[in-house]
Amino acid sequence: MMCGLLECEICGIAMKVYLETLGCQMNRLDSELITGQLLGAGYEIVDAIDTADVFLINTCSVREQAENKVYSRLGREAISPRQRIIGVLGCMAQRCGAKLLRRYPCVDIICGPGQLHSLGEMIAQAAAGNKSVACDPDRKDGREAFERNSSIDSLDHDRDTKVGSSAQAYVRVMRGCDKFCTYCIVPFVRGPEISRSPEAICEEVKQLAGAGRSEITLIGQTVNSYRYTAGDMSTRLSDLLERLAVIDGVRRLRFVTSYPTDFGDDILKAMRDLPNVCRYIHCPPQSGSDRVLRAMNRKYTRAEYDNFVDRAYEIMPDVSLVGDFIVGFPGEEESDHQASAELIRRSRFKNSFIFKYSTREGTVGAKTLEDSIPFEVKRQRNNELLAVQAEVSLAHFQSFIGREVELLVEGPSPLSGKPGNVSDDPNCVQMLGRTTGDHITVFQGPESLAGQYVKARVTSTTAFTLFADLVD
Ligand code: SF4
Repeated sequence: MMCGLLECEICGIAMKVYLETLGCQMNRLDSELITGQLLGAGYEIVDAIDTADVFLINTCSVREQAENKVYSRLGREAISPRQRIIGVLGCMAQRCGAKLLRRYPCVDIICGPGQLHSLGEMIAQAAAGNKSVACDPDRKDGREAFERNSSIDSLDHDRDTKVGSSAQAYVRVMRGCDKFCTYCIVPFVRGPEISRSPEAICEEVKQLAGAGRSEITLIGQTVNSYRYTAGDMSTRLSDLLERLAVIDGVRRLRFVTSYPTDFGDDILKAMRDLPNVCRYIHCPPQSGSDRVLRAMNRKYTRAEYDNFVDRAYEIMPDVSLVGDFIVGFPGEEESDHQASAELIRRSRFKNSFIFKYSTREGTVGAKTLEDSIPFEVKRQRNNELLAVQAEVSLAHFQSFIGREVELLVEGPSPLSGKPGNVSDDPNCVQMLGRTTGDHITVFQGPESLAGQYVKARVTSTTAFTLFADLVD
């Protein structure tokens, strides 16, 4: 291998690290924390792989497609003439472990999600020619083994608040999952559900808000199940929201992703009463049919999901609800599929993420369910749900026309400068911002507005984007 510890022994230049991230918000947060950790340790982070001495890929195991992408990246590295240290991090590292080293001898580091604090040392080891594997305990070893041997929040405490977006930040409030949906790998790769202490979370949010990160998104696999108990004191998500909402500089507070049965009125009322908590709930139903929900081991019925939706609208008539659905689940019949379409209409979701079922190795479903629905049927059901959702979304977005909204401006829209999106004013481009309900909104404005809050009036809409004029 070409280099010594953090820098090349010959030229003394810091080692360059290229980090690629796949998957969910949890991975994006982990990558941000890794970046801070490596910068603090003297590594340089680069935007392109060509010049990198170290290639790290933070992986996702939730869908087959995400894993195939990693195999293809490693396959390309295996035949690359440029020798560099290669590290596989996150869920796939945890799921496959040392097997990946055997399949891809070019890989030097396998690091599970609870071991990322060791990464600097593992890179140094790789630079000295030693491969290393650091995975979390096996789920069968129990919760105590995780609490002892896997510190998923060890990077969160001293995070570099300058790494990442200037206005937004994710904050982990819990890890793992105890729900065991039959199609999902998460409980096996992220371990048991463990909540962080409210003190640690408040301290982290204070530091982020002090550094100008005014929109905080609390994340957890089932974030509304958050519960931290110390002695006879228990803190629920609603209590945590109350503590965080009063921190100076926190202008928007969100949380994702929620599980339907854990949505008590205490959380809905906290959202209604705390002005800086966004009225946005991502709470996946996955199916509208009781039969399919049972097969998925989702621990609620359709009636219970409907009850959650009714309570949410009763307490916050203007809340934005977002769903997830899996189509073509083993045994799903046309009537089950129609029940999902009806659920989208009844729940008036702002938008839904819709996925076609595929078997994931390592899940309960892989052992007990046959992937019985032909691909063509899955594709058709997927398209049908997308069409129903587009109708429902359009009605939802149209209700904003003429209204004034507050936007947190992210920057120029991806279509800015493209035909039809060129501003008449040479000082303006098409900018993109989001409302408190997470509606993507575009408007003409100067690029200098990025990271700021502005007021805009909605003039027109599609099913997924609001168009607005700046109010001042
Ligand atoms: S609730 Fe179900 S789908 Fe969500 S992370 Fe847990 S097991 Fe996976």
